[in-house]
This record gives sequence, C-alpha cells and structure tokens, in this order.
Amino acid sequence: MSIPKELLRRLAREHPHSAHILKAFVPLLEAREALAESLPPPELPAGPDALSFSQGKAWLAAGDHADVYLDEAFLSAAPAKILTAAIKGLPDLKMPLRGLRDFLKKDEGECAKLIMLYLTGSMNKVKAWGGKHGQDCRGVVFGATHLASAAARRVARAAASCALPPWRGGLCPICGSLPHASALRGREGKRWLQCSLCRHEWAFSRTVCPVCGQDSPKDLPLFFLEQNRWERAEACNQCGRYLLGVDTREFADDIPLELLLLCMMPLDMLMQEKGFVPAADEAQGRRGKNARKQKPDALQQERLR
Ligand SMILES: [Zn+2]
Ligand SMILES: [Zn+2]
Repeated sequence: MSIPKELLRRLAREHPHSAHILKAFVPLLEAREALAESLPPPELPAGPDALSFSQGKAWLAAGDHADVYLDEAFLSAAPAKILTAAIKGLPDLKMPLRGLRDFLKKDEGECAKLIMLYLTGSMNKVKAWGGKHGQDCRGVVFGATHLASAAARRVARAAASCALPPWRGGLCPICGSLPHASALRGREGKRWLQCSLCRHEWAFSRTVCPVCGQDSPKDLPLFFLEQNRWERAEACNQCGRYLLGVDTREFADDIPLELLLLCMMPLDMLMQEKGFVPAADEAQGRRGKNARKQKPDALQQERLR
C-alpha cells in the first residue's frame, strides 16, 4: 500500500499540528501493508467454533495461535521491513531501532519470543526482554509494538475473506484486542469499530461502550472541536475510556481511518487532559483515573444520539 503523496500533503496542510505525526507513522503503515502483500498469507485454522464465538471468544487469539501469527515467512522478513520503516520515520530512535533490527534479523527465535510477549499483553516482560538482551527499552517497546501489529494485520487480512458467524462483542472478533477507533459510515451512520492491534473492523452498536457495556446515553458523551465536528471522541463516564472516531457522513472522501486518526492528536491530548484513557490502553487498567463528567473548556460536548 502506498498512500498518495498529494493526500498526505493535504492532510498535513489541514492538520498542521499533526504533520510531524504523519511523517513519523505513515512509513510504518505503508511497510505493514506492503509486508502482508509481499508474503504468502498465513495458514488459518478452520473457522471459529460457533458456540464459543457466540459467547465472545475471538477466533484467533494470539496466545492460542502463535504459529499462525509468527510463521517462518513472517519472522524472516518482518524485522528488516518494519524496523527499517520505523527508523525512517523516527530518526530520534535510529540507534536503538537499528540495534534491535540487527539483533532480531540474526535470531528468529528471539524475534518470535519478543513479538509473542507483546501479543499476549506482557509489556513488563517486553521491557525485561530488552534488559536481558542489552537492548534500549524505548526501541524494544516501539519495535515490538509495530512488529506485533504487522503480524496481526497479516492474519486479519487473511481472515477477512472468511465468512464469520454474527459477532456482537466490543473486542475484536479476530484477535480479541480492544478497539481504538470508530467510524460512522453509510447513510444510516452504522458504527464500525477498528481493532487496535490487527485493524480488523466490525459493526457495533452506536449506543453501547465497547469496553464496559454501558448503554445509558447520558453516560456516553461525545466530544469534538468546533472546527472539526466530524472528528469526535466517543467517551464513557462509567469506565473512563474513549475512542477516537469520524463521522464519514460529513465528507465523501475515502481516506483510511488510520490516517485520519493520526491527524486527531489535539483532540486525543485534550481527552487525556480531561482524565479519560484511550480505550485500547491496557497499561492503565480498565478505569480512567480522573474521568470527569462536567463540560470541558476547550471541547464541545453532546450526547450520543
Ligand atoms: Zn484484532
Ligand atoms: Zn465504558
């Protein structure tokens, strides 16, 4: 996947505060998709067990399917492709990422171990892995995040062609991770959630918090900046979490959701200043510490309709 340069220039022009974020992360998005396109798809097991799927158990949780995520083809190609793109986007991390890339290219076993620690949610163990192998902690955390995302994205792309039974959960039906974003699409404004790890998208109720299940409209406020009303943060007063989202009914452009998210840094930061926690931030537990209910100063607020 190559994102048209003109689109990037336009987004940077319209979102000057986010130009440096686009510059840093677009090479990683492109490398992740290009890697999945260049490799044979992973071998998927038979479709999900209908009963456990209907009870909310994701089809391909990484802890149960390490071999699907981390096959030979992926492990031999990913460190060079993904970490080289990371170095391009983030020159400040050049030295740690270069050290990590060279280490992982020589040792596929350790590469698999590091990515699996991330996929199974053990961030402390990811950091400990770095200490054990003399790698800079910042480079290891950043590198593991994007290698794991690339592995999961490749699995989700392969899974996209499979017909899955209905799914009503707030977690990703493919990998079981929390969503990080949402989009309202189509004339009806159907809500789609996007997985924070594999980027799979699934339809979900507009009036339910995917993290805690809260369904009382008064506790599901929407926040937006006046100048960009189609870019919103969908918050939950019960669990203190929020998702960034776009209402694509407001504009016809078919811009990838992930690119739009990179442009929403000001709203993202304001939400965290208010004490809300990103929905997919596992490190902070399931409840935002200081989530407040009152109307914020710099944000417009309205209830979910
Ligand atoms: Zn997922
Ligand atoms: Zn909630």
